[in-house]
Amino acid sequence: MSEPYRPLGETPLFHGTFVERPNRFIMRCRVPRHGTVEAFVANPGRMDELLFPGVTPVILTRVPDHIERRTRWTCVACETPDGEPLFLDTHRTNDVAAHLIDQGLVADLKGWRVDRREVRVGHSRFDLQLARGRRRLLVEVKSCTLLGGKDVAMFPDAVTERGRRHLEELAQLDTGDERPVVLFVVHSSRIRWFMPDYHTDLAFSRTFLSIRDRLRVLPVSVGWSRDLALAPTGTPVRIPWEFLEEQIQDTGAYLLLLHLQQAHTVSIGQLGEHRFAAGFYIYVGSAMANLTKRVERHLRRRKRLHWHIDYLRQVADDITALPIRASERQECDLAQAMSQYASTALDGFGSSDCNCGSHLFFRADAPLNDVSFHRLLQRFRMRSPDEAI
Ligand SMILES: [Zn+2]
Repeated sequence: MSEPYRPLGETPLFHGTFVERPNRFIMRCRVPRHGTVEAFVANPGRMDELLFPGVTPVILTRVPDHIERRTRWTCVACETPDGEPLFLDTHRTNDVAAHLIDQGLVADLKGWRVDRREVRVGHSRFDLQLARGRRRLLVEVKSCTLLGGKDVAMFPDAVTERGRRHLEELAQLDTGDERPVVLFVVHSSRIRWFMPDYHTDLAFSRTFLSIRDRLRVLPVSVGWSRDLALAPTGTPVRIPWEFLEEQIQDTGAYLLLLHLQQAHTVSIGQLGEHRFAAGFYIYVGSAMANLTKRVERHLRRRKRLHWHIDYLRQVADDITALPIRASERQECDLAQAMSQYASTALDGFGSSDCNCGSHLFFRADAPLNDVSFHRLLQRFRMRSPDEAI
């Protein structure tokens, strides 16, 4: 048996707890004996479903005192709500990918070895160039941390026009006989399915579908131990192309999260006047065509008031939309699930056309800071393709 692979080598690791993330690159963490420290985060993803203040365990490294750097700490991993360590040091994802390829752990790339790194082709730069005899193959590496449901991984976790353009550029390159590879390193050993996140980024997902004949998309899953040693799983991760063709449409349901900083009395059309307490409201709706447009309309304050939710929108201090795209109707199932999670805010709200008691629910605390809310959202967004049929 060879030694387990540790991309961070012998660097000492510190275990702590996530406190807050003031911006994409900085995280505050509590570390025993060091207090609250500021740490650099290499992973630019949103990671909303991973980082819970005061709850999420994190792993950090520390730059020695003699080295000049603004932030002395780096957050290199966190633990998922399921207790799995998850590697976040995207600066080292290429090392991880190179290791997997050279060890023959990426089934579709067996026989290839890493020849060069950071290779320029036209205006694009690839992370790795592989060699096999005289043949050459270009590989772009991406790190995937959005894991949910029973066994599903998705990418990206926030809208990325840059990521979409990049896919398109890679697909347009003339690289001879070998189609370039986009290798998604999925940081969990339980994953069986990889999909673009069509709920969050429809444009990226449409591009993902359209480039499938010009690029080879290869997801590979890895597990991590608490001392950040890599445990290759060897489990094949598949892309459910047919399922995606069906699902990647601008239709489905959505949740709106509205925040009222103070109580308001609002007249809601036929329902009359109602006092809404300060807190968070979850509204469930759907659009079986033009979901994007519908959601954009909800986000705007200035409009002709038509639906019940339009009246509440007028007094909300903050609104977040969470589309849940699907080819079939799920709105009322979603309302049913929300009624178990939160209390009904007002009977008959948004449910004039169905048998639900209401489509509006209330929580005193922010649902997006709550693990159970993310689990619920992922139950709908990240169904395994074999369960969804
Ligand atoms: Zn309903």
